[in-house]
Amino acid sequence: MPPVRIITSRKRRRTVSARLRSGVLELLVPATMSHSERQHWAEVMSRRLERRAERSRPSDERLQQLASKLNSRHFGGNLRWASIGFADMERLWGSCTFTDGAIRIARRAAPLPDWVLEYLLVHELAHLVHSDHGAEFHELENRYPLMERAKGYLLALDSLG
Ligand SMILES: [Zn+2]
Repeated sequence: MPPVRIITSRKRRRTVSARLRSGVLELLVPATMSHSERQHWAEVMSRRLERRAERSRPSDERLQQLASKLNSRHFGGNLRWASIGFADMERLWGSCTFTDGAIRIARRAAPLPDWVLEYLLVHELAHLVHSDHGAEFHELENRYPLMERAKGYLLALDSLG
């Protein structure tokens, strides 16, 4: 459990909220809350934060599982790749080497929502079939129903710098 700082508020009536600030879990609680209740919430909130951190950690196994699901859902299960995993990439969100079937997804994409990560994977999976961004490539990419939304999401992130 991270160190916990409890901040009481006289304005707060019932709700508890938590934030992580330089490694310290700050718990905002109503001033009237009892000690044991504060303790209880400190545990609940730190578990919740841990789970969130767990989800956003780059896991190659998670990528592998998502890719297998997308392969059977959108490509008839016909695609084969040699390796798939997160890698340090500064400018790109993903890459696929057509020749040896290695798919890499930028490590900084790990905390993105699943549906955006899935789009990145569909894009790279489609490159296993077409190395360019031609019309046939787009036909494959279009099989992912949230493609346009995911593209917009990434564009907005990129433009934030
Ligand atoms: Zn591409």
